[in-house]
Amino acid sequence: MDAVTPNGSPTYVLASRAARPAPTIVNVRGEAIGAGACVLIAGPCAVESRDQLFRTAQLVSRCGGRFLRGGAFKPRSSPYSFQGLKEEGLKLLDAVRREFDLRIVTEVRDVETLPAVAEVADVLQVGARNMQNYPLLEAIGDMRRPVLLKRGAGATITELLMSAEYMLARGNEQIILCERGIRTFETLTRHTFDVSAIPMIRHLSHLPIAADPSHGVGIDWAVPPLAKAAVAAGADAVMVEVHPDPANALSDGQQALDFEAFERLARELRQLQTRSAE
Ligand code: PEP
Ligand code: MN
Repeated sequence: MDAVTPNGSPTYVLASRAARPAPTIVNVRGEAIGAGACVLIAGPCAVESRDQLFRTAQLVSRCGGRFLRGGAFKPRSSPYSFQGLKEEGLKLLDAVRREFDLRIVTEVRDVETLPAVAEVADVLQVGARNMQNYPLLEAIGDMRRPVLLKRGAGATITELLMSAEYMLARGNEQIILCERGIRTFETLTRHTFDVSAIPMIRHLSHLPIAADPSHGVGIDWAVPPLAKAAVAAGADAVMVEVHPDPANALSDGQQALDFEAFERLARELRQLQTRSAE
């Protein structure tokens, strides 16, 4: 990897495979991401209530999950949509983290709320809309905490790696990159889930790669086959949205798996891993 692009501008260096031939393993309170086995991250799009969060946590835990996702601060496309429970949501995440052996993946929306979110997050999620929020990336880079960096809907793989570079340059190496679908001319799916990004990132970078088929396709029944495709393509983690009552979810209900579909998928993903280990 050259330090400059053909037009002479600096590019990512620390994120490249040349910088570190061995894969980076992100250790999240004793659970490794990037060590070979594909890790399941699951939970609701947004934290809505104690009951919703605890029921989902119980399910994820029972299905062998070690990571619970859920947004307290939700950056929504419309200012009129549910924006998350904010500080109240963080309190619920803190409570669920104490109750279950689960690591919390939750989104940080801005520099101002970063300290509060970092108190309960085991993994700080940088959302697609914030992939190029450089002050936020720099602040997280200084914190040196595990981070899940999502690819912007209109960002190239190179731009994703450049954003990771912002944090690596500040000394944070605990970065998981996340493919979550990009915008194409297709309108039947919410985004186009770019499976090819998984082997491409693996080829270019030592950083682990996660896949989020829920936002990638945006339709509940299409999530399981894409989750399996991501595992087959070599993803280090798969993140899916699951909700006790998808029809009444306050955000992203159309792509949330119900409990039955989630249990089935968790089982299938386990079988896929066992088969590939044989
Ligand atoms: C989410 O994970 O709920 C989310 C908002 O994702 P994205 O940033 O990929 O749209
Ligand atoms: Mn969502």
